[in-house]
Amino acid sequence: MSRYLGAICKLCRREREKLFLKGKRCSTSTCVMNKSKGKTVPGQHNMFFRNKISDYALHLREKQKTKRLYGVTEHQFSNYYKKAEKMHGATGNNLLKLLESRLDNVVFKLKFALSKRMARQIVNHGQILVNGKRLDIPSYQVKVGDVITLREKYKPIAMKNASEIHTSNIPSWLSYDATNLVGTVISEPSLDELLNAINSKLIVEYYSK
Ligand code: SF4
Repeated sequence: MSRYLGAICKLCRREREKLFLKGKRCSTSTCVMNKSKGKTVPGQHNMFFRNKISDYALHLREKQKTKRLYGVTEHQFSNYYKKAEKMHGATGNNLLKLLESRLDNVVFKLKFALSKRMARQIVNHGQILVNGKRLDIPSYQVKVGDVITLREKYKPIAMKNASEIHTSNIPSWLSYDATNLVGTVISEPSLDELLNAINSKLIVEYYSK
């Protein structure tokens, strides 16, 4: 299945919450979720939020939201789930760890990019070095000890990006040298913050049906 190329803000309206997919704009008053349009879901009939949604819809929406947060396709998401099922431990936690460990997500978390879409683009364009080598695969799974940095010519842009991001802090499983723009993976992704935002149990139930 191909990547979604439609209006990005529609995805937030569809999930009925801010997914912060557009970088700086998401924290300004121009975000559509701050306007009356944000109180409607996209579609021909422009229906207002329903108070009740079915059990199936609840599970589906959590899966869709998570997929959209990480910018992966349906096929990729389902492959991550299959992989998570085969790993030791809780499938939901494994799934989130796999998604968190994507190189494009790490690039975003290190504040080298204003959004995850931008992070994917930076990786695709070969601006990221992992352990000193150029790596242009956004789905690459980072490992403990991996050192992530940027090509010299991209560093001024990344510094500007980092100065414009005031929201989230660097997660505890990554160490960051802001002077040299170098990030290191120091442990497996910690899910504490993530589990408040994503109910992985609902996703597991969705796939178990
Ligand atoms: Fe979502 Fe950001 Fe668009 Fe607001 S501006 S609707 S948070 S993508």
